[in-house]
Amino acid sequence: MYITKSTNYKQKNSMKDTFFIKKTIELAKKGLGETSPNPCVGAILVKNGKIIGKGWHKKAGGPHAEIIAIDDCGKRGEKTEGSTLYVSLSPCCHYGKTGPCTEAIIDAKISKVVAAMSDPNPLCHNTTTIFKKHNIEYTVGIMEQQARELNAPYLKYITTGLPYITLKMALSLNEKISGQQGPYITCFESRKYVHKLRRNVDAVLVGINTILADNPHLNVRHVKGKNPKKIILDSSLKIHFDSAVLRDGNALIITTKKTSEKQKNLLSKKAEIIVVENIKNLKKILTLLADTGIRHILVEGGKKVAESFLQHQIVDKMVVFIAPIIIKKGIDFSLASLKWKEKKIKKIGTDILWEGSLFPKNKTDEKKIKKSREKNRNKKRNHER
Ligand code: ZN
Repeated sequence: MYITKSTNYKQKNSMKDTFFIKKTIELAKKGLGETSPNPCVGAILVKNGKIIGKGWHKKAGGPHAEIIAIDDCGKRGEKTEGSTLYVSLSPCCHYGKTGPCTEAIIDAKISKVVAAMSDPNPLCHNTTTIFKKHNIEYTVGIMEQQARELNAPYLKYITTGLPYITLKMALSLNEKISGQQGPYITCFESRKYVHKLRRNVDAVLVGINTILADNPHLNVRHVKGKNPKKIILDSSLKIHFDSAVLRDGNALIITTKKTSEKQKNLLSKKAEIIVVENIKNLKKILTLLADTGIRHILVEGGKKVAESFLQHQIVDKMVVFIAPIIIKKGIDFSLASLKWKEKKIKKIGTDILWEGSLFPKNKTDEKKIKKSREKNRNKKRNHER
């Protein structure tokens, strides 16, 4: 095959772009679990093929990745003038908790910007125009899929107003989700994996029956990381005052008007309480939670809560552990009821792990979800970036 000089040049350039963008995604991952409600972002500055500065966004309210990379250049005694900025999400152009990155890029005399994907936040729509006006070459869309996966919770909130939902379930071989086998169905490696999931979300959500049956802590113990907020759906405030989940003051109980003021006052010393009209209206509750900054929720059951989330079709990621045990008496859950869109299967300790996303129940539902996302796309969301 004959390759023209220009095609060859383009190929080389795109290979170089992919190489550096991959590095920005790796850097961005260092912020996982720490940057919410902001996205995870990594940035690298390159001049004459050499990395002269790098950085990643560490915490909401703190400097953006691009600014850290520019500062890093200064610390290394390098000049940013004429360099290329690689970044895993398009630079912001508005005043949030920090100034716009586009201004810092212009001031640093950076001549080219390559972004993995563009930020769908309407506040960031002017970036292309600003770069054009200042003669900064701008390319978007390198390793976009990987960049999207990394910031799926942020992207879901910006486009729908809802938090990203990961639903975790643990079952025995004969499809029971609890029984008389002691507190755990799964092996230690699976439980450690759950703690990794907890570390990377804003909140863990369970129903009151799980609290009454297992008295879980729902915190991060087997890995390093911050504890998520614990959300408990408890329509009639059945929770015990000395429940393990209330010990660290990081719980949020969602209840209804049918509970007494006395009960609420007593519990408000131990947890935040939100009163809703209808505890079954999950979308309304989730919108409320998302607007308080909760952008990724790990739903940890039990059966009633899991089925309710599945019926509402608001599960983005499904995580199912299957343990090689048989439970004689327990609560049934049919694995065949899950219609997988895509699924990864792996062995974890002595268990099997299924991880992936589900199909909407039918085509009309798929259309409805698409339509509602389009309708919501241009709404200005409450977020700090
Ligand atoms: Zn920025």
